[in-house]
Amino acid sequence: MRNGSQAGKSHVKSTNGATGQTSSLKAKVDILEGSAQDSYTPIKSLNTFLFDWKIKARVTKKHNKKTWKNIRGQGTLLNVELIDSQGTQIQATFFNEQADHYEHRLVENRVYLFANGQVKMANQKYTSIKNDYSIVFDKQSEIEEVDDDASIQNRGFCFTTIQEINDFEQMRTIDAIGIITQVGILTQVNIKQSGAVKDRRNICIADESNLSIQVSLWGANARTEGYSEGQVLALRGARVSDYNGKSLNSGDEHSQMFIDPDHRRARELHNWYEYHKSNLSLSSVTINTSIITNGTGIATTNCGLGGAVGSGGERPDNFKFAEELIEELLNPVRSSQSSGLAPFLSDAAKQQTKFYKISGFVKMIFNDEKILYLSCPDCRKKVIEEDGSWRCENCSKLHETNLPTYMLSALISDVSGNVMVQFPRELGDSIMNGKSATEFKEMKDEF
Ligand SMILES: [Zn+2]
Repeated sequence: MRNGSQAGKSHVKSTNGATGQTSSLKAKVDILEGSAQDSYTPIKSLNTFLFDWKIKARVTKKHNKKTWKNIRGQGTLLNVELIDSQGTQIQATFFNEQADHYEHRLVENRVYLFANGQVKMANQKYTSIKNDYSIVFDKQSEIEEVDDDASIQNRGFCFTTIQEINDFEQMRTIDAIGIITQVGILTQVNIKQSGAVKDRRNICIADESNLSIQVSLWGANARTEGYSEGQVLALRGARVSDYNGKSLNSGDEHSQMFIDPDHRRARELHNWYEYHKSNLSLSSVTINTSIITNGTGIATTNCGLGGAVGSGGERPDNFKFAEELIEELLNPVRSSQSSGLAPFLSDAAKQQTKFYKISGFVKMIFNDEKILYLSCPDCRKKVIEEDGSWRCENCSKLHETNLPTYMLSALISDVSGNVMVQFPRELGDSIMNGKSATEFKEMKDEF
């Protein structure tokens, strides 16, 4: 009985093994036959274990060649973005001599066959392309231009919603799309760190979540004319900024923009806007923006028009009660503590910058020595007194003057409880009834 059952087991096992082998062999044959038929590997089936592949793809974006530097040395790199006939995108990188070699051979919008690259895990922080993998092409790689293939679309997008952007960390690269709700005029901005003057245009876009966000277009993207309300603006490779809540930056060196692109999302947004534009109630994830438009001078603060609570009790703008807010902010910290990571080093803690709306009254302002600091007139970082001048470590410069700057903390209270909120810089003015940090310091010094 016992022997029999063992024999039976081992018999079953070997049968399974044999069947497994047969089916995996068959699968291999299928792949080979399949690839012989349509010749090319879909980008979506690339992975680090697949070596013998050949993709046919369009170069949708060729970035400017960059220099890299780390402890192992320095060199140049060239990033390109590829898309295949199934609409799957992937980023590819060329280093050093390969970057020089392919910089002018690859042309945006043309179609190529690519083989013999190394498939690697992608660093998603620096690309809007949603692919777990990226490709590094080296001197073994084969790249050959072929005739244009209309089955490969001109541009791939991986759109994120404005709601999703609200959860992303600073400097994350994304594709965004929305209806233009406000167009600012072209302005020139002094970039204090480099001394350069750059063109900038602020625009607000909104989507079906009834959220809006401010986009700062820079350089050639800002100089483009012909934006108007109700158009769809699509951005490839825009960068998330934590400036004033959440906003986006789109400079011509890293980001492409398209007005009313031929894309399903653009049509959806147009339909939504047509239906709702007469009673649009938007909430902005960017706070304290003042967009100067052609028509009326300074238009409004906030891209949105107010309307904190959406219909049916939804709160699309992340409105929270104090108690909920504290609970939500503490959760990732708690889970990282139980995982043994220092809370402020954990990814969860790093990604916590997020925009919330809270409604309450100022219960108390902490009038301690931290309420204001003396800042550098250029970069607003803290300065140290040095023989009657003010040294900024950040700009490594001595300044004649300093700028008193708020970093005040206040206890905001609502029905659920209290939450301590910091009000940096000019945000402190409104808490102090419009009194600037300079005025407040003068008053304080008199006592
Ligand atoms: Zn400075």
